[in-house]
Amino acid sequence: MRKRLIAKTILLAALLVLLVGILIVHQRMTTGGTGDSSSSPAGDTVSTAESAVESTAASMSTSEVPSTADEALAMSKKYEEQYDYDKAISVIESFPGYDQNQDLLAAIQTYTDEKASCVAVDVTTVPHIFFHSLINDDRGLEASVVGEDRAKRNGTAMVTADEFDHIIQDMYDNGYVLVSLDDLCVKTPNADGTTTVTKNTSLLLPEGKKAFVLSEDDLSYYHTYGEGTQGYATKMVLDKKGNVKCEYTDENGDTKIGDYDVAPRLNTFIEKHPDFSYHGARGTIALTGYDGVFGYRTNDYYKDINNPHLDKDQVDWLKEHPDFNWDEDVANATKIANALKAEGWTFASHTYAHWNASEKTADELKADNERWMTVNHNIVGDIDKIIFAFGGDIQDATPYTTDNPKFAYFQSQGYVIYCNVDGNIGWTQFGDTYLRTGRVAMDGYTMYQAMTEGEKSHDTYAHDYQVLGVNDISSFFDQNRITPIESE
Ligand SMILES: [Zn+2]
Repeated sequence: MRKRLIAKTILLAALLVLLVGILIVHQRMTTGGTGDSSSSPAGDTVSTAESAVESTAASMSTSEVPSTADEALAMSKKYEEQYDYDKAISVIESFPGYDQNQDLLAAIQTYTDEKASCVAVDVTTVPHIFFHSLINDDRGLEASVVGEDRAKRNGTAMVTADEFDHIIQDMYDNGYVLVSLDDLCVKTPNADGTTTVTKNTSLLLPEGKKAFVLSEDDLSYYHTYGEGTQGYATKMVLDKKGNVKCEYTDENGDTKIGDYDVAPRLNTFIEKHPDFSYHGARGTIALTGYDGVFGYRTNDYYKDINNPHLDKDQVDWLKEHPDFNWDEDVANATKIANALKAEGWTFASHTYAHWNASEKTADELKADNERWMTVNHNIVGDIDKIIFAFGGDIQDATPYTTDNPKFAYFQSQGYVIYCNVDGNIGWTQFGDTYLRTGRVAMDGYTMYQAMTEGEKSHDTYAHDYQVLGVNDISSFFDQNRITPIESE
């Protein structure tokens, strides 16, 4: 009796260990290895070669194994919609007896044909657009509410939630598909710590579809964003299902949870239109560190109100929030970062202090990057991307070499993808050990210039928006802005 019980217990324990093992493997596969901070800087992305390995039935967790033929078909359809034909096929092949089922065999044939008819994206010309946090009501654009200076800044650098919806819908209607920065290249780590970067020649989309990359800058809800008085969200939170949403206080002082910024708004759009995302790709979020991240005051300087590095806004905020608990904010921000990663978002440095890297020395950038790591690495883990604040690159358009001490430093810290701002939409440069992309701002300035004949940058931005398939900007441009908008 006792022996039987012991045997049963051992069997049960073994099963449990197996199950946990499968879950861990699955977790690593689905997060591309970014889920744990122990992965190497270069290891936070899955190269295409690894993706191929990933799409075997063996790597799927038990919850992903279909239990009926219909379920296998339904699950495979979801991958098909996001152009992941290999995974769609492997899902079907994981169903026992699929090779005896005509419907399943026909689906495999369909996916095989669809993949064969796809065209490789030219990864040297993919447009990269970026947004800042969205404005959800008109307060932030009105001088009478936030003062002229702030109203002008908001009107220049931001788009409203409504404008965002128009831009994204137009791009979708014009055949654009979101790919991630990591999809553009294949990264192979080298023994010396550098990463060999090559063009991804197997980024496949159906004929007529066009790839684009998206990023969002400064996702901190800085104190200057008005703490709920300017129409911005105030922080990111998780809803009951664990999805990332935003907390936002409206004109009446009512606090709501919903899609009040780029990440949740895009997630919802992709839920409705899965074919807007390649293999489930999302954007890259560029973070500074000085005011914390995602609306949490995670900079360690906040721990002590007497810290000499704190500015007036930060001290005032601490005075208004006597219950502030730094550890709690870090824990909450980490949950948000993990949830965003699970949704497909990636992170980049935007420098700790929002510095213009063109104007700083290598030593200054080193000190700044060390601060970034101190305050953000515990929250977002390893990163290999830098999105330059103000678009201020560390070099002109000539290729980077390690003769440039700034590049030598950033490369030594594991950075592989570097993004500036460039009016030539789709500007891309592949080096042996890096990828550079030039971004186009989706903001009040570029929209105003694009829609206004005779403005000095009209031709540039009219062209850029036209390439993106965003037409008739004046029909959705928020007229509450202070115009003209003649400089960034
Ligand atoms: Zn910025």
